Amino acid sequence: MGNDDKPKSFIRNLIDEDLSCNRYSYVMTRFPPEPNGYLHIGHAKSICLNFTLAKDYGGRCNLRFDDTNPVKEDVEYVDSILNDVRWLGFDWAGGLRYASDYFDRLYECAEQLILSGDAYVCDLSPEEVRDYRGTLTAPGRDSPWRNRDPQENLDLFRRMKNGEFDEGAKFLRAKIDMASPNLNMRDPALYRVKKARHHRTGDKWVVYPMYDYAHCVSDAIEGVTHSICTLEFEDHRPLYDWVLEKLDWPQPRPRQIEFARLNLEHTLMSKRKLLQLVKEKMVDGWDDPRLPTLAALRRRGFTPASLRLFCERIGVAKKDSFIEMEWLERAVRDDLNPAVKRVMVVTEPLKVVLENLPEDKAEIISAPYFPDEPERMGHRDVPLTREIFIEKDDFRLNPTPDFFRLAPGREARLRWGGYIRCHEAVTDSTGEVVELRAVFSREPSGTGKRKPAIIHWVSASQSETALVRLYDRLFLVPKPSGDLDQELNPKSLTERTARLEISLKEAKAGERYQFERLGYFFCDEKSSENALIFNRIVTLKDGWARMAKK
Ligand code: ATP
Ligand code: MG
Repeated sequence: MGNDDKPKSFIRNLIDEDLSCNRYSYVMTRFPPEPNGYLHIGHAKSICLNFTLAKDYGGRCNLRFDDTNPVKEDVEYVDSILNDVRWLGFDWAGGLRYASDYFDRLYECAEQLILSGDAYVCDLSPEEVRDYRGTLTAPGRDSPWRNRDPQENLDLFRRMKNGEFDEGAKFLRAKIDMASPNLNMRDPALYRVKKARHHRTGDKWVVYPMYDYAHCVSDAIEGVTHSICTLEFEDHRPLYDWVLEKLDWPQPRPRQIEFARLNLEHTLMSKRKLLQLVKEKMVDGWDDPRLPTLAALRRRGFTPASLRLFCERIGVAKKDSFIEMEWLERAVRDDLNPAVKRVMVVTEPLKVVLENLPEDKAEIISAPYFPDEPERMGHRDVPLTREIFIEKDDFRLNPTPDFFRLAPGREARLRWGGYIRCHEAVTDSTGEVVELRAVFSREPSGTGKRKPAIIHWVSASQSETALVRLYDRLFLVPKPSGDLDQELNPKSLTERTARLEISLKEAKAGERYQFERLGYFFCDEKSSENALIFNRIVTLKDGWARMAKK
């Protein structure tokens, strides 16, 4: 079915089997977010997986909001999720669904389970329920309400629906097996009273279905064939199958398949923790570029293609693991490398006076935007003037033996420019170097032992300024436990006032560039003509090595 070129995964193998034995004649998947938070890169894995499988097998993928808990859900989240899925590059093609669309049907199915003796109304309090449930090693005990007859259950359930009972006073549960080794099968709840307004159904309902019950029935209603979810649902699969079996749902029924969720080092995917970071203002909103949310990655400048590439490369497995951030960074570098212009920006400017150049003149250098293929992206003019800025870090007053860039008496090569030899460092009263005096030449003097290092620079008089944001890992430890006081990296954001080469005067919000030696940068959406802001998407891992060869 046109997917032979795709690397095989255990999921594709299962689907192939299902198709070849005619269990299904088509493939239908779904991505089922709960609208209680913003999507993160973990969700991207699930989105890419579900939509790509559907596409490769010529099937369909629904986007279904699992909106069964009115208390935590919000239209703000619905809108952000729609936007994020679209941005990632996927199209649900008319398959936009809400579990709340099925509230009537779910309710009818619950009555059916009551009448067949497979569900009952229970009056135990939440504490009692916990007590009766037993433990992993001890079986549970039957609820005293377990043997109510179906007509009584039906009457009570209808009265629950009509608002006659308070929250927690009664709930509907499946009648399965209180001694099951699987705790999910010990008469799990199907419906509870919740006197809350729902963002779509308003005040129509005061009883709401539980996730485990609503999910399998929603899948079945939509004709989903492969219901793909993360590993923690493996123990819920018997319940998923039980519900559809007891409802005598026609074949073919959906099949649940579990895969390992994405964990990324140095960050967190827990919605609860992300919400806490946002609410307690430890970051600047859901789209703070340090977060793993899709809104944040977009704001930082990641491309949808790079996230898709990342998801494809990490693949799907059956065992939980942590992925190094490097994988994500490599994907965005690989995506941007052939696509973006190279320019020069100095983030910590140190002035250098080239004493032998005239005051009011500039030499215009035509520098290629993409040195590897100069013709592809053209050239821009770079003015070389008597006063330039170099990166503070490219100079040392007292260089250590492993420092090969500029120092008093040393020569460095200006990218696209020529050579400068520093003969004096001007310091302020604190001993900090505030200016360098140097002599410019077209050719190297040839006196040094090694080839002069290449450094980037911008003209002091013909340049722009911009706010540049540099990001580091949000968490200091690779596998954060969520202790925000201890684990958050206090230096995850550095802001600098940078000098940009003059061609960037025309930069527009949404554009990406490689700042030579510094990384890939994104012109922030909040940039304006007079106040440019650039976010560093990612550093250039081997930027220095590449430059040194040229
Ligand atoms: P919650 O605790 O609120 O349920 P959740 O992260 O599971 O949080 P959902 O909105 O239920 O959020 O997730 C939607 C879909 O995304 C689910 O099918 C879920 O399995 C999948 N998903 C969530 N987190 C990850 C992750 N880290 N890696 C892969 N898939 C994920
Ligand atoms: Mg979930």
